[in-house]
Amino acid sequence: VSAVEVTQAHLDRISEVDGAVNAFLHVNTDEALQVAADVDKARAAGESLHTLAGVPIAIKDLIVTKGQPTTAGSKMLEGWMSPYDATVITRIRAARMPMLGKTNLDEFAMGSSTEHSAYGPTRNPWDLDRIPGGSGGGSAAAVAAFEAPLALGTDTGGSIRQPAAVTGSVGVKPTYGGVSRYGAIAMASSLDQIGPVSRTVLDAALLQEVIGGHDPRDSTSLPDPVGNLVEAARNGNVAGMRIGVIKELQGEGYEAGVLARFSESLELLKDAGAEIVEVSCPNFKYALGAYYLIMPSEASSNLAKYDGVRYGMRALPADGPMTIERVMGATRAAGFGEEVKRRIILGTYALSAGYYDAYYGSAQKVRTLIQRDFNAAFAQADVLISPTSPNTAFKLGEKLDDPLAMYLNDVATIPANLAGVPGISIPGGLADGLPVGIQFLAPVREDARLYRAGAALE
Ligand code: GLN
Repeated sequence: VSAVEVTQAHLDRISEVDGAVNAFLHVNTDEALQVAADVDKARAAGESLHTLAGVPIAIKDLIVTKGQPTTAGSKMLEGWMSPYDATVITRIRAARMPMLGKTNLDEFAMGSSTEHSAYGPTRNPWDLDRIPGGSGGGSAAAVAAFEAPLALGTDTGGSIRQPAAVTGSVGVKPTYGGVSRYGAIAMASSLDQIGPVSRTVLDAALLQEVIGGHDPRDSTSLPDPVGNLVEAARNGNVAGMRIGVIKELQGEGYEAGVLARFSESLELLKDAGAEIVEVSCPNFKYALGAYYLIMPSEASSNLAKYDGVRYGMRALPADGPMTIERVMGATRAAGFGEEVKRRIILGTYALSAGYYDAYYGSAQKVRTLIQRDFNAAFAQADVLISPTSPNTAFKLGEKLDDPLAMYLNDVATIPANLAGVPGISIPGGLADGLPVGIQFLAPVREDARLYRAGAALE
């Protein structure tokens, strides 16, 4: 089949199902077909092209794209067009992958259900009454609904892995610094990472190789690429690999169906020759608490740029003087949703004079303890394993009024962001007809191990 046929088939699928799924905020029809047509022409002329040339992709709407709107799921950026491309987008263009459009997310990537989007929730293709995870529910739902074969997400506390888990997709959070963050709208800069969403481990490896590698525009970018991911995904041999079961990420709070699929996965890995060991990470119980201080602190600083002056939305006070503070206040009151406001207030409080050491300072110390837990665990195991999320997809509205219940979806994914280590979520079968995700974690720069272990479970 030609690239135009493949791209058109996905555009047709989007027209057919996206009214119900709401995975896309913008569909990039003309440009996608043009890129596909150029690929077909180049191929006919015998040009040598990248393996993924002509393979369409969906982009989480937190990643800036020239020529397509970028909203971050917020009213604050409604109708805004970036004057530049994110580095990952430049690389996708260089590989000549048609971009199908921009996918829905929780506002500024804050959430675990995509219900905090200013543009309506995305629905889980497995059951339209259920959430597709978040914040990158749009990317995961697009892949799961066959609207796109590949997508990009961002993961600050689990927003690639948890949506992948609850939609039966593969999702990868690369090593911090392995993929450039230039052009990813910042949520919490020390935690954010762009990564692939796909249906197979090999597809994710191919995509991470396209988007990864050093970028001088990101000061936290690693100097070297993180190893041969495609080879590892093709290999899938876990004979002799030591796989560490994290004691603290199972049991209480995890659904029985999730734990059942998890045990079966361990059996499968054992049958494939892996050595299963138990490891303990005693400080992981503080990870969620530390995350909800560090993330809002960084977010409150990153979101200060939405001031109604420089770009994005501007709302004017209904009456009274038009001072800058009052314009800023009116803009933020109207432009930001509930959850974003909650986190800005939490973050500014945690950073305020007199409280800085007690909150932000303590959270940074916990972060160090979590890194040490990982170091100790990786001395005993090559990769670690856990369920990706304690539960399968829940019903829309179920956790919307209970922020803590929403936050608990990420207990198993957050430690990786705090330590900068890479993680992958692999489909691990169904519980009551809903997908369960299995997570592998590897040491920093050892992303290849995730692909090798992930391929073994596929
Ligand atoms: N669900 C988590 C949060 O709300 C993670 C978000 C993310 O990874 N972007 O912060």
